[in-house]
Amino acid sequence: MVKKYQAPATSKGIGIGKAYFYNKFTPQIERITIPESNIESEISKFYEVKKDAISEINRITEMIGSIDLNDASIFRAQIEIINDPVIGKQIIDEIKTQKVVLSYAIYAAYEVVINILENVDSPIIKERISDMLDVRDRLLRNYEGIPEYNLSHIDKEVVVVSRDILPSNLALINKKYIKGIITENGTNQSHLAILTKNYGIPAFLGIGKLIENINFEDDIIVDGVDNEIIINPTNDILNEYLQKKEKYDQEQIKLQEYLHLPSYTKDGIKIDVCLNINSSNKEELKYFEYVDGIGLYRTEYLYSTKLPTVLEQVAYYKKILTLFNKKEVTIRTADIGADKKISYLDVKQEINPALGNRGIRLGFSNEKLLKDQVKALLMANEYNNLNVMFPMVSSYEEVIKIKKIIDDCEKELIKDKIPFNKFKVGIMIEVPSVAIMIESIIEEIDFASIGTNDLTQYLLAVDRIDENMDAYYQRATPSLFRLINNCVSVFEKHNKPLSLCGEIGADEDISKILIGLGLTKISVSGNFVPIIKKNVVESNYKDLKEFADEILKLRSETEIINKIKTKKQL
Ligand code: PEP
Ligand code: MG
Repeated sequence: MVKKYQAPATSKGIGIGKAYFYNKFTPQIERITIPESNIESEISKFYEVKKDAISEINRITEMIGSIDLNDASIFRAQIEIINDPVIGKQIIDEIKTQKVVLSYAIYAAYEVVINILENVDSPIIKERISDMLDVRDRLLRNYEGIPEYNLSHIDKEVVVVSRDILPSNLALINKKYIKGIITENGTNQSHLAILTKNYGIPAFLGIGKLIENINFEDDIIVDGVDNEIIINPTNDILNEYLQKKEKYDQEQIKLQEYLHLPSYTKDGIKIDVCLNINSSNKEELKYFEYVDGIGLYRTEYLYSTKLPTVLEQVAYYKKILTLFNKKEVTIRTADIGADKKISYLDVKQEINPALGNRGIRLGFSNEKLLKDQVKALLMANEYNNLNVMFPMVSSYEEVIKIKKIIDDCEKELIKDKIPFNKFKVGIMIEVPSVAIMIESIIEEIDFASIGTNDLTQYLLAVDRIDENMDAYYQRATPSLFRLINNCVSVFEKHNKPLSLCGEIGADEDISKILIGLGLTKISVSGNFVPIIKKNVVESNYKDLKEFADEILKLRSETEIINKIKTKKQL
């Protein structure tokens, strides 16, 4: 029976596919003993399970080979673990001596190795543990004969339905087949939401209990234009939506006409439209020729499955820096923590992760990780087009500490006779204290970028990923515009570049206010470049400034939204 539900879409577009329930496999282990006569067959089962697991990995490697990053090498490392003769022998010995079923033998053998590794104080070893756990569960799942529910494994058009999805899981998938994403938990400003917008995947994150109306293999239409989820549509409804989708896709193609235009307002003010990226993935860079540079490269996704080495990082960064060559590229050091946790890093469980060991704080507490990245960035800056910015900076002292670390890295590279080029040093303005103190900090930095996703979270003291608090997350809070306005005047006075890379920069209406406030560089994910360019070329800066001045006088988000609506009707 057809069912329709209204819910706010967190990423626009229309998608159609079968419901695909994404759940992580959790092994259920029981110590079952076997008779002596079954030992040989249990051992042969081990070889079969091993073979199945290896073919599974080979299939995935082939499929994601085109996606980028060093995903393929992650899986190659897993094959090495599966073939490890010591663990293999341990499993067989366990079956022989303890007379236990294969599943228990696998579990026990991996437990021994993992216990040993857990006591070694090294992030590289810790990373190995997460690979081991993955391999162990892969073997156990194959033993159970359960297919892999893994996002990188999908090879037909689906709408993924899940309680939650980690941003790092989505970063690794083949987006071609993901026609929509529906989750029980999540918000419009979570990192998962940002990724779905980047990839142009229609999404409904945080729909709560509505999710219980969806069943395995249901046909689903996600209509992120009119905020509707349709389950098991009739043929007539399906046809109607196919046409609607066609119309929407055509409109998006039409918008691409603006890509080619230089981004000047009608009265001649240049607004740099730059790209936010999370990887050097082709999809994310599809409009690279039409932008003025990279405004935000979120490097934390490079760390999704393992710690990248310095040389691997140099290769990643060089790829982007070479592609942009004469245009500026702003790379942000890893903003790990909060909803971008990394399992292999030994970070204490926190009660308030958004206020915890995140961004630069994690860099300070894990200095080798930060220094390796800084060195890789220095080494990669071949074309002198690199700006590096640091996330979650909250005080003047931290800026000084960062500069000292950069200085130390440069000295170490000189000592090791490794060539490098200095980069421009900037910070994210995403903690209110820094925005307030910017007049005192500006002398120490070359540039800054306003991260409104977090700035709003911290200004309003509202967790950006908690769907129950979403009503308090006011994207158009007047406090934000006033703070941005102050920052703009300080940067203008000191004649230093200031940009904005939060999601509101991609909002058709709010971006006009931001330009009116004097921001001349806005960075958005690829899919929003056409609409922002359209905004720029069809506006007069003078009008936008007048409008922004009116906005600055308003007292509430409601007044601001109403003002935007009235303006639209004019
Ligand atoms: C921001 O906070 O606005 C930002 C761009 O960073 P992120 O969304 O990665 O936290
Ligand atoms: Mg941020």
